[in-house]
Amino acid sequence: MNKNNKILLKGLTLSELQEYFVSVGEEKYRAEQIFNWLYNHIVFDADEIKNFPKDLRKKINEVCELKTLELVDKQYSIKTATQKFLFATKDNKKIESVLIPDKERNTLCISTQVGCPLDCKFCATGLMGFKRNLTAGEIVDQYLLVAKEYGKEKITNIVFMGMGEPLLNFQNTLKAIEIFTHELTKGLSRLRITISTAGIPKKIIELADSGLRVKLAFSLHSAFEDIRSKIMPINKKYSLNENLDALKYYAKKTKTRITFEYVMLKDINDRKEDVKALKKLSSQLPSKINIIPFNSIKHMNPSGISATLESTPYDKIIDFVEQLRKENITVFIRDTQGDDIAAACGQLAIKHN
Ligand code: SAH
Repeated sequence: MNKNNKILLKGLTLSELQEYFVSVGEEKYRAEQIFNWLYNHIVFDADEIKNFPKDLRKKINEVCELKTLELVDKQYSIKTATQKFLFATKDNKKIESVLIPDKERNTLCISTQVGCPLDCKFCATGLMGFKRNLTAGEIVDQYLLVAKEYGKEKITNIVFMGMGEPLLNFQNTLKAIEIFTHELTKGLSRLRITISTAGIPKKIIELADSGLRVKLAFSLHSAFEDIRSKIMPINKKYSLNENLDALKYYAKKTKTRITFEYVMLKDINDRKEDVKALKKLSSQLPSKINIIPFNSIKHMNPSGISATLESTPYDKIIDFVEQLRKENITVFIRDTQGDDIAAACGQLAIKHN
């Protein structure tokens, strides 16, 4: 239920929908039908559900919420063809999603929270603070609104790497994934899904045990506890060591490889000893490292340590990667996408929230 006392139908799992329809005296099979309309035909209004009787459509529109977000703005990067979508929630909070086209894949990067409570020093979203968790419907609607416009068959990957920490909005993130991967949402089940986390060990283990088998990316950024704590305060609460145990469990249980994300910060994590530490760390579990050039967060007028951060120069990044490869570490460089529209990794933030 939301503030207008409407039932948040969008974002309910199939079994929850069945429960709901039965509880209001409707047939159980209606749930499967509406699930199909919401997530395969992508309708946002019960009047579009052609095989429902008129009075049922009216009733649903009166008491249920089928559309949780409005698309309020779009920006297009001429440089990389990346598109950024700005959405408004019903309580007028703003969130963003980013569509990143590539040769064989199109990745949609979605948000799980309005703002973020983690305060990572290199991240624009962290600088805007935390407002609230998104509902499962709001998480799914980011995808549905973009898919409606762009064609759902064209979106091949979803990454939970937008605003917020997905594992701190665990139930709603899980529900969204359950909907994305449900056998009834045919178009979606082919989607490749990755969750990115700054590291909440208990939740990593719960995710492993959930049976959802999504890919997991871990925002590492330093293999040293003290340095990681400086740039990611969450490390003081959940240490890298504790996270590594959870990640090993995840890799084993899901038979997947963990991706370590590593934003290159000049003189902070690009030194010789960082190569050594990364070698030691990555030899402990099936993994690969994604090297990410640091994207500027100057548009947020940062202060403190955030204001001092600089990207490692590109030739030095290449050199760093070569040193890692010499150590037989699997490593990729992630190209910066959409920094001209502040849509690149870590640049998402809305000043007027
Ligand atoms: N809270 C989650 C997901 C959001 S961050 C997490 O921490 O993983 C998504 C990715 O963008 C993370 O790897 C994050 O470290 C990276 N990122 C954040 N700020 C960045 C910046 N300024 N430049 C490049 N990447 C950044």
